[in-house]
Amino acid sequence: MIKLEGSQLATRIKQEVQTEIERLVKERDIRPGLAVVRVGEDPASAVYVRNKVRASEELGIHSEHHALSESTTTEELLELIRSLNARPEIDGILTQLPLPRAIDETAIIEAIDPAKDVDGFHPINVGRIAQGRPVFVPCTPAGIIELLDDTGIEISGTNACVVGRSQIVGRPMAQLLLQRDATVTICHSRTRDLAAVTRTADVLVVAIGKAGFIGRDHIKPGATVIDVGMNRITDADEVRALFGVEAEKRLEVLAKRGATLVGDVHPAEAAEVAGKFTPVPGGVGLLTVAMLMKNTLKAAKLRRL
Ligand code: NAP
Repeated sequence: MIKLEGSQLATRIKQEVQTEIERLVKERDIRPGLAVVRVGEDPASAVYVRNKVRASEELGIHSEHHALSESTTTEELLELIRSLNARPEIDGILTQLPLPRAIDETAIIEAIDPAKDVDGFHPINVGRIAQGRPVFVPCTPAGIIELLDDTGIEISGTNACVVGRSQIVGRPMAQLLLQRDATVTICHSRTRDLAAVTRTADVLVVAIGKAGFIGRDHIKPGATVIDVGMNRITDADEVRALFGVEAEKRLEVLAKRGATLVGDVHPAEAAEVAGKFTPVPGGVGLLTVAMLMKNTLKAAKLRRL
């Protein structure tokens, strides 16, 4: 079983973006700008936003972090989005999801100028992907395609299965695989006999948000398994059951930090059956931020060159 680590590729993508930004600044006096909007105090969102802002700064992207209180209204957030849409030096706008329940998430996503929609969630960009002519592709599925390509994994003609049909991962992932000529099946919580379907997949992408849910019976021997899930676990017995030979290392993490991360795929069982497998952490997650940086650079070039 080969582990598909995302770190080297993520570093390379970020280096390429940084070099291109340095050139843009030097030759055209254009510095790409990214505004990240966060509402409320969700701790996971705070970490994701911090990572995005830090990466932007490292690469020379002008970045702004708009942290709004939990009590922000849809109208107030729309006002901020409109002002960011109107500012020429801002090329990318993203609102960290999920937003608090009281906010109309759809209205916010639809208010973002599609030319600045670096998350690729606006219906115009979603429609473009569905038509097979993408402009901004959601960062996680875009990173997965880069990883498959970088590792030389064939997509065309294969049976690909995506488990999960979220707007941010499952659906765009399926579209991208289809565009690359895979035969694509999308599974979800109503799929009957999930294992029988996933076992036909040469490329299996899992994004469901359930710790270690996909086990050996779901995986075709030798398949490439891409694990998007990020689940915090805090129970030592669960760690032992999931991590097999790597349990000791994970128990140390648990003792030190009070939790460890596991994907939606059972790591010990996948290691027995899969041909290639992305670890959690250290797989897909690292590529998401790199692809956001790439999308921001792309937005700046499309808008300003
Ligand atoms: P989501 O919006 O929570 O949707 C979950 C999807 O999984 C739904 O389509 C649901 O089906 C399906 N599902 C749930 N239980 C299932 C089951 N037992 N069998 C088959 N399908 C099932 O998912 P998401 O936002 O895509 O996130 C999924 C996971 O990826 C989470 O752990 C999240 O933290 C992680 N994530 C990681 C990154 C990254 O950068 N690495 C980025 C985004 C998300 P229904 O539609 O029928 O309800």
